[in-house]
Amino acid sequence: MNEPNFATPGQQLAVVEEFEPANGCFEEDGKVFAAVMGNAKTEAHQASVSNPKAIDHLQRGDLVVAVVRDVYDSIALLEFQPLKPRAAFSTYSYIRIANVQRGYTESFRDVFRIGDFVKAKIQEVKPLGIYLTMAEPGLGVIRAFCASCRKEIQPNDSGIDIQCRSCGRRQNRKLANATNAPRPPRRDFSRDRRPPRSNR
Ligand SMILES: [Zn+2]
Repeated sequence: MNEPNFATPGQQLAVVEEFEPANGCFEEDGKVFAAVMGNAKTEAHQASVSNPKAIDHLQRGDLVVAVVRDVYDSIALLEFQPLKPRAAFSTYSYIRIANVQRGYTESFRDVFRIGDFVKAKIQEVKPLGIYLTMAEPGLGVIRAFCASCRKEIQPNDSGIDIQCRSCGRRQNRKLANATNAPRPPRRDFSRDRRPPRSNR
């Protein structure tokens, strides 16, 4: 079969008795899977997946801008376009809650929301997925959208207790350009030496 087929990561393409894994493929339990998204070919006893738009050239340390698509308890799904001009293809990736910032994070809701744009760095490129990190200075949310009304909100320097101007909802973010890392714990102002703000 020489016709190229579109393959997604993790899709089985062949068994090793017929085709050896070549570029863009990996083998597990005698089966050959696509490691990257792209055009799959099985010919000359080799299975390969090629993507001219360079997904397979991504490597650890590359910077990406990603959109948060879905959030689970310990992992979030993001879609990104690499900042490198040659890589113009969007792809899915993951970020673990341990890698969103330095120190402990109780909930993704403290750092970003679905729809936010974040600047992140590729931490690992694995056969079944790309993992990102934001746990470095300069990485984090660059555009934030309100968790209630979806309007874009203008975060303050700290990213803590931002108030949406449209609907009034308060929320937090881990900002790429935050000026006061590390953040204080939420709702614990006991060590805060400033006097409490009075309600005018
Ligand atoms: Zn709002």
